[in-house]
Amino acid sequence: MDGILGIDFGGTSLKSCLATGSQLKLYDAIPTPKDMAALRKSLMEVSKLANDDLHTSVAGVGIGLPGLVGQDGEALFLPHLKDFSSLNFVQLVEDIVGAPARLDNDANCAGVAELREIGACASGYEVVIGIGTGLGAAIFGPGGIARGFSGFSGEVGHICIERNGRSCECGRRGCWEQYCSGGSIRSELDSAGWVDINIEEVFREMDVNPDFKSLVEEFCFHLGLGIANLVAILDLERVVLTGGLARSLEAVLPKVRRYYLELVEGAGARRETEIRVGSLFEFAGAIGATYLWNLVDG
Ligand SMILES: [Zn+2]
Repeated sequence: MDGILGIDFGGTSLKSCLATGSQLKLYDAIPTPKDMAALRKSLMEVSKLANDDLHTSVAGVGIGLPGLVGQDGEALFLPHLKDFSSLNFVQLVEDIVGAPARLDNDANCAGVAELREIGACASGYEVVIGIGTGLGAAIFGPGGIARGFSGFSGEVGHICIERNGRSCECGRRGCWEQYCSGGSIRSELDSAGWVDINIEEVFREMDVNPDFKSLVEEFCFHLGLGIANLVAILDLERVVLTGGLARSLEAVLPKVRRYYLELVEGAGARRETEIRVGSLFEFAGAIGATYLWNLVDG
């Protein structure tokens, strides 16, 4: 049976999985490689895992990258992986894995995977927001993903929400993801001396630790704010939250909804936009990358 290897390059960790027919095997996340030697080694490792499981070579590879990707398999601008910003990932992966590869933005991959899992909303107007180290989105309309003029739609993490705000890896300041991502929470924890606390603990312990409570509150405000902005632009029926951080968000959805309703234009005149958590979390991108090949059963 044909096997498709899905690889999602997150800002912090690389997730991979193998799809064979309707079967899916998730591999342990590994740290995202930061230089070419580490990248080649990581690709050889995941390729070996998949080939060993299949007892043959993979038939195709799907790749998700955090940033702007070109039509010919090349990365064009990767804020979190600057050393790879002009690399042709498709060519590299094909050389190392020995199978044809396809490439898309990681949030688009994650969005497609989540909607395959939970079904599209009735009108089709929805956004899947992936929150991990950074923040990105897949924007859907009745015809499927709205890709935009150059194929770069959904880079919502880099909408500027604060003039002269926190500096961002994209080279500008005040981007939404600097206030609403795992990376933003991590840097606030680190600068407050909480280097050994993981983000799940922060959400779990917010009711007993006032520092964590204010951190989570600020995160929820900025998530509600961003969703209100997206709804004002796109008039969404639904917003789905995915990515590694989404695991922690179920408990704070009422807060996020409250901020959203305070901040959206004409809340009382609008039909209610559903805000929900997806079901694939940190593996949504890798699973969605396998769907770049139409060889697997949905
Ligand atoms: Zn930015």
